[in-house]
This record gives sequence, C-alpha cells and structure tokens, in this order.
Amino acid sequence: MTNRSLWRQFPQIRNERWSHGNIVLVGDALRTAHFSIGSGTRLAMEDATALASALLTNDFAIPAALEAYQAKRQPIVEKLIAAANASAAWYEEFVSHMELEPLELAMNYITRSGRVDLSRLRQQAPKFVSTYEAGGHGNTTA
Ligand SMILES: Cc1cc2nc3c(=O)[nH]c(=O)nc-3n(C[C@H](O)[C@H](O)[C@H](O)COP(=O)(O)OP(=O)(O)OC[C@H]3O[C@@H](n4cnc5c(N)ncnc54)[C@H](O)[C@@H]3O)c2cc1C
Repeated sequence: MTNRSLWRQFPQIRNERWSHGNIVLVGDALRTAHFSIGSGTRLAMEDATALASALLTNDFAIPAALEAYQAKRQPIVEKLIAAANASAAWYEEFVSHMELEPLELAMNYITRSGRVDLSRLRQQAPKFVSTYEAGGHGNTTA
C-alpha cells in the first residue's frame, strides 16, 4: 500500500558452521525461518533439546557432541528452511497474487511453502478442494 507504513526487513541468517571451539549456535542466531511459517520458536526449542541430548549422548565431550548436534539436526532444519524460503518468496510477490481470483488465491496461499499438497489438503479440507475443482480450477490429479 502506498502509505507511510514502515515494513520490517526480515533478516535472513545462515551459518555453514554451527560451532567453533566451545561456542555453539541455536535458534535465530543459527538461522532464521521466515515468520510466515510460524516455526522459529519451535526450531529454537528443538535446537536446544537436540544440543542437550548430543551433550548427554557424548558424555559431554564437546567436539564430538557439537559435531553430532549439527549432523543430526541439519537435515531436519534444512527442510523447514526450504519451506520458509518458499513462503517468504510468496510474500515478495504479493502484488501479483492479488490478481488471482479468490479460490485460486486461497489455493496458491495454502500451498505456498510446499508443505501442504493437494492430497493432504483433500484430507484436511475436502469441501474446499471439491469447490476448487468443481470451479474448473487447477486441472488437479494428485
Ligand atoms: C514478526 C515476527 C513474527 C514471528 N512469528 C512467529 C510465530 O508465529 N511463531 C514462531 O514460532 N516464531 C515466530 N517468529 C520467530 C521467533 O520469534 C524466533 O524464531 C524465536 O524468538 C527465536 O528464539 P531465539 O531464542 O533464538 O532468539 P530471540 O527470541 O531473539 O532471543 C534472543 C535473546 O537474546 C537477547 N540478546 C541479544 N543480544 C544479547 C547480548 N549481547 N547479551 C545478552 N542478551 C542478548 C535478546 O534481547 C533476546 O532476548 C516470529 C518472528 C518475527 C520477527
């Protein structure tokens, strides 16, 4: 909107290495997940529990524990970050989405991060999907 709204710039934080010596990163200091997927707090908490568990499992041997923490947690985090990036990109193109008709916009929005696909949506919101398909939208087969 062309008023004087001040929009917060969301910082995209990424770290290739998760630790250095006895210093280790968790939560937003490690990586941010765009707020539109609402998972940043969960990720931060899960980082902390994964770190605690790696320390316990490795008998508090710091280098081994920090390596295990990253090795175990990174693949899980990367999936969520891919979804968060896709969702953030969707918001960057918001103006063009506003040209879609309402049902297309709703479908485009709900599937924006790639975490919800048509088969899942069919289970969770069957009425919405059948209305969407009955309207000749999408050519969906999934
Ligand atoms: C607009 C917005 C909406 C969001 N919505 C959601 C949502 O709906 N659901 C969700 O799960 N997540 C959401 N998030 C993300 C979530 O807030 C963060 O991912 C989460 O708070 C990260 O936790 P953290 O402990 O890593 O960092 P933080 O919560 O940022 O905690 C870091 C703390 O360290 C303190 N600190 C910084 N520097 C120093 C220093 N030098 N010395 C001492 N203390 C220091 C800070 O004051 C802060 O209290 C949202 C984020 C934003 C910006």
